[in-house]
Amino acid sequence: MRGQPQDFDRVLSSMCTEPHPVAREAAGEFLATNPGDPATYQTVSDLEDEVVAMLGEVAGVDDPAGYVASGGTEANIQAVRMARNRCVTHTPNVVVPESAHFSFKKAADVLGVELRVTPLRDDRRANVGAVERFCDEDTVLVVGVAGSTEYGRVDPIPELAAVASEYGALMHVDAAWGGFVLPFSGHEWSFADASLDTMTIDPHKMGQAAIPAGGLLARDPALFDALAVDTPYLESTSQATLTGTRSGAGVASAHAAMTELWPDGYREEYERQQANADWLADALADAGLDVVEPELPLVAASIDDVAFESLRDAGWRLSRTGNDELRVVCMPHVTREMLESFVADVETVTAT
Ligand code: PLP
Repeated sequence: MRGQPQDFDRVLSSMCTEPHPVAREAAGEFLATNPGDPATYQTVSDLEDEVVAMLGEVAGVDDPAGYVASGGTEANIQAVRMARNRCVTHTPNVVVPESAHFSFKKAADVLGVELRVTPLRDDRRANVGAVERFCDEDTVLVVGVAGSTEYGRVDPIPELAAVASEYGALMHVDAAWGGFVLPFSGHEWSFADASLDTMTIDPHKMGQAAIPAGGLLARDPALFDALAVDTPYLESTSQATLTGTRSGAGVASAHAAMTELWPDGYREEYERQQANADWLADALADAGLDVVEPELPLVAASIDDVAFESLRDAGWRLSRTGNDELRVVCMPHVTREMLESFVADVETVTAT
């Protein structure tokens, strides 16, 4: 008896979600395919090209190059690798805001680049002045986050891109989680008008695809040349991905989810989850918690250790920010009913 793989009833911490039914079905159909060997597995390879084009549409990037990675971690590592491989300096550095995902630490470690972590503004977004101060002639990449992991904040991407270009560095946006909500969130800039070089945008998060389906896009296909290695034993002759054999299930499910949901389904989901996040923020504030105002569908609020552990003991799957706030990610499986029941438990544990 294997048991139920995952029950989402009380999951409030995950940046992944239940795959859409069409995505689940497509994943099953393509389990035995490997887009890492495109000349052999041609159908899934064609689907992957379409996924990249669709991700470009979601992100507002015309005709991007890219591939379906195992997740945001791989996509971020690859973006750093591209920047490092095309530079001439022997001491490359990458400048990231403090809110950047920990995958950049892994990237810096495996790629031997210096990671320069810059302080944030008071509103938890990247501080452009600080980023500029940390850049120098060895800076190969500037990173901005569009939907930060802890607070769902969106950095001033066009301004960061201007700094990158001043230093001759590439500009990477990590929209692993935010990529599928930003087209609808009314931010005054869009990915289309910021001059970005690369982007992480993961179908297996807000895109409702099955895991593993991350996305790496590059505006200029030549950037992938910096990653390509020869592949003597495959039918195709070179490979720019980090992993070799890859999941065709992820590719097919991303294709199915985006075909089904872009744009109206994603818009409706964004509106539903933003309303949930705004409702939850008010309800937690009414319960006496200090709440960080949500910008995207992610709510953080201060809570003491005992209350936090009691909520976990009650079965809520919750995580904490570096400042020990509880963090609720309003993913598509999260319902208002779930949040009402959660708030009732918060009221109970904070009253004692
Ligand atoms: N980037 C951001 C902004 C994230 O929030 C995450 C994960 O939550 C990642 C990258 C890493 O993605 P993955 O866990 O799919 O490797």
